[in-house]
Amino acid sequence: MLNIDKTDVVVIGGGITGTAIVRELSKYELDVVLLEKNPDIASGSTKANSGILHAGFDAKPGSLKATLNVRGNKLYHDLEDELGLDIKWTGSLVVAVNSDEQETLKELLERGRTNGVPGLAILSREEVLAREPNITPNVTGALWAPSAGIFLPFGAALAFAENAVKNGAKVVTDCPVEEMVTENGKITGVRTKHGFLSAKYVINAAGVHADEISRLAGDDSFAIKPRKGEYILFDKKVSNLVQNVLFPTPSKVSKGILVSPTVHGNIFIGPNAQDVDDKEDVATSLGGLQEIVSKAQQLLPKLPLNAAITQFSGLRAAADGGGDFIIRPSAIVQGLFHAAGIQSPGLTSAPAIAEMLVNILKDQGMELKRKVNFDPVNPRKIVFRELSHAAQQQLIAQNPLYGRVICRCETITEAEIIEAIHGLCGARTVDAVKRRTRAGMGRCQGGFCGPRVTAILARELNIPVTAVRKDSPASYLFFDKLTADCREALQ
Ligand SMILES: Cc1cc2nc3c(=O)[nH]c(=O)nc-3n(C[C@H](O)[C@H](O)[C@H](O)COP(=O)(O)OP(=O)(O)OC[C@H]3O[C@@H](n4cnc5c(N)ncnc54)[C@H](O)[C@@H]3O)c2cc1C
Repeated sequence: MLNIDKTDVVVIGGGITGTAIVRELSKYELDVVLLEKNPDIASGSTKANSGILHAGFDAKPGSLKATLNVRGNKLYHDLEDELGLDIKWTGSLVVAVNSDEQETLKELLERGRTNGVPGLAILSREEVLAREPNITPNVTGALWAPSAGIFLPFGAALAFAENAVKNGAKVVTDCPVEEMVTENGKITGVRTKHGFLSAKYVINAAGVHADEISRLAGDDSFAIKPRKGEYILFDKKVSNLVQNVLFPTPSKVSKGILVSPTVHGNIFIGPNAQDVDDKEDVATSLGGLQEIVSKAQQLLPKLPLNAAITQFSGLRAAADGGGDFIIRPSAIVQGLFHAAGIQSPGLTSAPAIAEMLVNILKDQGMELKRKVNFDPVNPRKIVFRELSHAAQQQLIAQNPLYGRVICRCETITEAEIIEAIHGLCGARTVDAVKRRTRAGMGRCQGGFCGPRVTAILARELNIPVTAVRKDSPASYLFFDKLTADCREALQ
């Protein structure tokens, strides 16, 4: 629910871009409100991607993508402790298998150095095999980028949002913006499903929908076409197969299908690239999955297909006009600012995008006075499975719900789920609990814990089980209780 009708700044979209911006703005004496159409933040592109903090050798020198990638990567080194982010600085390898690809590695090395990427080096075949013994025997060398890392994108977005809320910002979910209200070419507010919110500034961080938001205000300066990328995720039992992020040598059109560890010890392969029309279409396809399997096998011949546990896909917000990020004031509507076309490396760039956008606001005349009591730190959350046996015993003695394991694959306790539901940006759906705690992310993919998490959500939110949703606005899991007649018929 909205519960307010006036603010200084509205940020539309609760992905990593919007949450990083709202956190940056919460450093100043401003009323800031983030509006997200879905029941949870980080449920657009930010939830389904490769989760790599790219080093920054890929983008064209001088582009926003190149500058903000390298700056963002550096900022995450500071944010890691401040916000309690899960990051592993694994480094990445771009793998070459012939002399043409070796030449491309040299180009990438030069481009990376121009972009300011630290520590790049070309490794010999032997050096690559020493790091990655399971890689293709055809390897001839690789570009090593030590500043690349892997992280949990929705964990980062949640940390940005929670820190912003801690510092006075508001985050409202289930609140789609339906109309942009302007007067004499100037933004005056937004109309949402829950009413009008007056605002002096509106920031458009609506991902694949950013062009629609812009058009609602009368600015049709860009269009966004979604480009789907599909993935397969593998069980933790095969996690020792790769240590670093492995890219093939890129072609002119794509970074290619990669093989990578995740921050929690799984491995994944993907993504492919397929233009689609529907901005909510995240279905996977047999053809797409076959494509990523065959390409990933070129990097990792021993790919253990019988250890696949799930597949998913995400949508890149590919903008027309060259494909660089669109971060600027609207040329048509005063008070409207775009952070749009944020495709890869958008996760890596997010804190730098937020920094840049706030500087643009300053240049455009926004009065920015630093809060004296801004608190940059998020407290570390309790992760029961990572504690020593003694520490676990102590917690259970204080709160017996730490002794009740709800997700058996990932060892997630009822106490952690309750904490996720009542947190600063609390979980309202089964997948929101999953994203915060990992309940449902293991081998059985929620087969065991799903109904239990649903019951806990209903109890803690004081709603009927039929009102609990899986993820999207209308994804209800149960429709009604079985009547006695139905039960009898089923027996
Ligand atoms: C396949 C794939 C792989 C990728 N891999 C990487 C990677 O490894 N590293 C990297 O740095 N980047 C990567 N990216 C890019 C990265 O995922 C995106 O740049 C980033 O998630 C974009 O975040 P966002 O906040 O701009 O958009 P989103 O996360 O899509 O957020 C936009 C939000 O706006 C909301 N919204 C839309 N319309 C409205 C409305 N009317 N009212 C209110 N809210 C609205 C949506 O619900 C959504 O939550 C990848 C992307 C894809 C698809």
